[in-house]
Amino acid sequence: MSVNGHPEQKIVILGAGPTGLGAAYRLQELGYRNWAIYERNSYIGGLATSFVDSAGFTYDIGGHVMFSHYKYFDDLVDKLLGDNYTEIMREAWVWMMDRFVPYPFQNNINYLPREVVLECLLGLIEAGKHPEAVNQATTFDQLIDAQFGKGIAKHFMKPYNFKVWAHPVTHMSRDWLGERVAMPNLERILQNVLMDSADKGWGPNNKFKYPLYGGTGGLYTPFEKYIKDHLHLNKSAVAVDPHAKTVTFSDGEVVEYDLLLTTMPLDLLVNRLQDVPEPVKLATRGLHHSSGLIVGVGVARPTPSEKCWLYFPEEIAPFYRVTYLSNYSPYITPDPNHFLLLTETSRSEYKPEDKTTIIDRVVEGLINTKLLEPADLDRISSTYLIDVDYSYPVPTVDRNGALATIQPYLREHGIYSRGRFGAWCYEIGNMDHSVMQGVELVNYWLKGEAETTWKDFAGSAPLILDSAFTGRAGNGLVRANEKPLNIPAVKLNLAAAAVDQAGHVA
Ligand SMILES: Cc1cc2nc3c(=O)[nH]c(=O)nc-3n(C[C@H](O)[C@H](O)[C@H](O)COP(=O)(O)OP(=O)(O)OC[C@H]3O[C@@H](n4cnc5c(N)ncnc54)[C@H](O)[C@@H]3O)c2cc1C
Repeated sequence: MSVNGHPEQKIVILGAGPTGLGAAYRLQELGYRNWAIYERNSYIGGLATSFVDSAGFTYDIGGHVMFSHYKYFDDLVDKLLGDNYTEIMREAWVWMMDRFVPYPFQNNINYLPREVVLECLLGLIEAGKHPEAVNQATTFDQLIDAQFGKGIAKHFMKPYNFKVWAHPVTHMSRDWLGERVAMPNLERILQNVLMDSADKGWGPNNKFKYPLYGGTGGLYTPFEKYIKDHLHLNKSAVAVDPHAKTVTFSDGEVVEYDLLLTTMPLDLLVNRLQDVPEPVKLATRGLHHSSGLIVGVGVARPTPSEKCWLYFPEEIAPFYRVTYLSNYSPYITPDPNHFLLLTETSRSEYKPEDKTTIIDRVVEGLINTKLLEPADLDRISSTYLIDVDYSYPVPTVDRNGALATIQPYLREHGIYSRGRFGAWCYEIGNMDHSVMQGVELVNYWLKGEAETTWKDFAGSAPLILDSAFTGRAGNGLVRANEKPLNIPAVKLNLAAAAVDQAGHVA
């Protein structure tokens, strides 16, 4: 086996989350031998890991819904899970104004008080008079106004998105939503209002798979048997020398590489690079992320609801989303006489959250929003807090410029930064995208196939294949007559990507 027709190069992968695991799996599948994967944790799975507490509840790091846009990913899931999965019918709701409103929000404004319905409708009609404003919008804030009008913006879109992203929507770009954001259908909305009908709006793909055992992490633990001979746990990379092409770990070990896939957060990577040019370092200021406080609450009674998840735009509760995780698999709780609510609260410099009080505030919020009844306070049999430093890569207006500076520099040194925080592209930050970024990078290295999921989102000049290998002189990888490799634009099917009414994928 070779890299682009040349003898085996040493491939090093940093991080055994979905991206690193996808790459590792593909390397062994193609029969490549000279590679190693290093993970700082004592377990694999990254943000898609699950934890089990002493009471027998399983917690994901936030509600993970498995979408797929790839046959390769589907086949891999089938292989890894076999028959050990459940199939869930999506059922999503919004809680606001002391009531449940079915998803998608804008199609069901008839559930709201009449004066709010009027405000939303007038806003939609006004926005419809200026369709050009949708194309002219440069920020997410402007796009929301142009597309949904002032009423829906005020009552749902803006407060909800601030709660999710923990960043002002005025800081966020509209690019990540692509050009294909559908205008709300005024006729349909009017019909629902006048006929007072519920419109849950799910298309034919209204089911998703979930691992029967082990939570979301149950999809990733089976990777281990394919990669274990190359896997090194408890290895935290603390420095990367792009000139000597070495990685230094916290235990002092130094490992050489020819090609490096790193999936750690891109800003941390740049800070750990030795002799990095100042503009590359400065560019990390354009990379913004939110953190998350994930709180699970296990309750000793059978599940009171068939819902999957709910969105919360209001201040009445700290969380932006709650998942009835125990509805996904019977093995999430110790027995059927318990249910588990998994809550997600974001935080950032713009939205501080007190970690020491979050569990109490979450429980109070669950009662305020009627997901728990006061009598449940005596039935809470477990609570669990997961503090996530890097939760969402926020698509801010300065992100693409940052990536345009950082990624080409890395590439010139044989460093490929991919995955949710490696690529720092929320639009390709789900599990299927992440696994496939790893798979496709290996396909590129070993088979010369262009990556299609990751792309140069920064829109900078096409990347040159041979410059990828110039970091170490004489490695023999530069081919004669090499042509610039145009990385094709990613084919983002945003409709299929299940962008919800908030433009929020997962
Ligand atoms: C709250 C939340 C909800 C989500 N919901 C969904 C959903 O509904 N559907 C969906 O498909 N996806 C969802 N995701 C996204 C999903 O978790 C990611 O797509 C996926 O985990 C990204 O994989 P990754 O390998 O790129 O990154 P990660 O999972 O972050 O893995 C990176 C790995 O690198 C390791 N690492 C970091 N630094 C170092 C170092 N210095 N040395 C060695 N190792 C290091 C980390 O420990 C980690 O294991 C959600 C994520 C969050 C946070």
